[in-house]
Amino acid sequence: MSKIKIAELFYSIQGEGRYMGVPSVFLRTFGCNFKCQGFGMPRGEMSQEVESIAARITEFKDYNELPLVSTGCDSYASWDPRFKDLSPMLTTDAIAERIMEIIPHNQWVDEHLVITGGEPLLGWQRAYPDLLDHPKMAGLKEITFETNGTQQLTPEFKEYLKKWQLRTWHYGGPVREITFSVSAKLPCSGEKWEDAICPEIVREYEQVGTAYLKFVISTEQDFEDAMRATKEFRTAGFKGHVYLMPVGGVESVYALNNRTVADLAMKNGLRYSDRLQVPLFKNEWGT
Ligand code: SF4
Repeated sequence: MSKIKIAELFYSIQGEGRYMGVPSVFLRTFGCNFKCQGFGMPRGEMSQEVESIAARITEFKDYNELPLVSTGCDSYASWDPRFKDLSPMLTTDAIAERIMEIIPHNQWVDEHLVITGGEPLLGWQRAYPDLLDHPKMAGLKEITFETNGTQQLTPEFKEYLKKWQLRTWHYGGPVREITFSVSAKLPCSGEKWEDAICPEIVREYEQVGTAYLKFVISTEQDFEDAMRATKEFRTAGFKGHVYLMPVGGVESVYALNNRTVADLAMKNGLRYSDRLQVPLFKNEWGT
């Protein structure tokens, strides 16, 4: 039986993108190929906010006790090796059991599964079929992979996902859906353009399910970078929607530019994505 290292497993409302407002199980896997230390920092500077938290690591017994950060990656504990002991390695059986415990009717009704990270397509592609084939997952109809769009699907996983969608039929059409919510990282993240903008990989996701791009915007420069990236994706043949989303894991930051980002989306015929988890839940762990 496969195992997956899980940073968080919780039930909440999807706050972003295509399934905004949908009750969802969030499976946050451990591990990421990026650090995104540039978020919320002046261009070229890297956040050190997590250093002081790592220095006090022995004070924290549970993932939920960790302080939130306002700069750098707000999911730092889902990939930084210094926090790895807070993320247990669970069998796919244990994960499926736990999911049944946290959804309201102890069975899938209208809930959606969000596999997020970290970077969920980095290390666990071989384990997901074991989880999704578990009898307790049979009623699941919609999955979103929240990815940074840099990880190729293995041929085996690609074939598996195609078949998974076709397994249940309803009124002559598939009722199962796979979505790739691609948060491609712009230079404000601190990651290099050539590592972060990977149109060919995202084009491949479109062969399996619905893929869309989601850019986090805090400045005019970010918007210009998002437009440049969109052009690269379109040139490569990417057909999906493009969302602009305000920066901000904390309300004070988020409230500063959500209206500006909404205006930019309207002016340019792009989609706007809110971050409902910030006003609703203050972006606490487990939301
Ligand atoms: S890609 Fe996502 S999880 Fe990974 S470091 Fe960047 S923001 Fe964090």
